[in-house]
Amino acid sequence: MEKYLLGVDIGGTTIKVGILTEQGKIIDKWEIPTKVASKADQIPIDIWDSIVRKISQHKIDKNQLLGIGVGAPGFVVAETGDIAVAVNVGWKDFPLGKILHDLTNLPVYIENDANIAALGENWLGSGQLADNLIAVTLGTGVGGGIIANGEIISGVNGTAGEIGHMTMEENGAPCNCGRQGCLETIASATGIARIAQEKVKHYSDSTLVTILNEKNKLTAKDVFSAYGKGDRCATEVVEEVTDVLGLAISNIAAILNPSKIVIGGGVSKAGELLLNPLKNAYKKYALPRSYEGSSFAIASLGNDAGIIGGAYLVKKHLS
Ligand SMILES: [Zn+2]
Repeated sequence: MEKYLLGVDIGGTTIKVGILTEQGKIIDKWEIPTKVASKADQIPIDIWDSIVRKISQHKIDKNQLLGIGVGAPGFVVAETGDIAVAVNVGWKDFPLGKILHDLTNLPVYIENDANIAALGENWLGSGQLADNLIAVTLGTGVGGGIIANGEIISGVNGTAGEIGHMTMEENGAPCNCGRQGCLETIASATGIARIAQEKVKHYSDSTLVTILNEKNKLTAKDVFSAYGKGDRCATEVVEEVTDVLGLAISNIAAILNPSKIVIGGGVSKAGELLLNPLKNAYKKYALPRSYEGSSFAIASLGNDAGIIGGAYLVKKHLS
């Protein structure tokens, strides 16, 4: 009888859920809204209710389910399955793993959302089962996942791999974590837009001026599109951002010696326009031997990385 893995990716607005085969084929995937704040306790119940409905539709029996792998936002204590803090959901010391296990009587494994995205990319995406991999997600914020000797690194209390909160600039822009000058304030979509809006003041001839006047704001997408057309202001922004990102990655690489560096998130849609200057910056800062051993790739699983990584978390624990 075929067995199935369940992958769950909890975000601030939606929860993605998937039923996968042991080989990673997605049988079905769907989204449910995330209840937050005072209603956040309902989340594990909503997840399980939706799974029960779907397995019934697919005529899958509960004893064909091998377990649930969950990616949750915030600081996750992987060992206990507790969510220490997830600000955007409203959880504090929330025993998600225990509640889901009590509801389902299945093995439940919980990890940080950026970490399961890294696991997913490493299993079926651009990582190709690298033993040592750095995954960086450039979205509204900057997420990170580090795989060392085949294992995701979560740390003593769930803050390992928080690449976005490496301090890159003393007295830099304020970060959501309460500190200043984190990588996230520079290399996220938000950071790129912020830097562009400052720099554009000095470039009256930039095409970004027209966009700013029309829309009253700039996005990272605007910046990369102008960069692709040779705009000088956009070039300065992209070179500055990729320089800082390349420096950050080279420092992690000095410790991890990865074979793969996978860049995902909305900003990674810029593709080669992002990768080329990033590789140059990385080459400038990395140990030559570390540089030679590693290659960059754009993440390939998109929004499915989380559910695939969640399923892999189950698969890995069972093997
Ligand atoms: Zn920070």
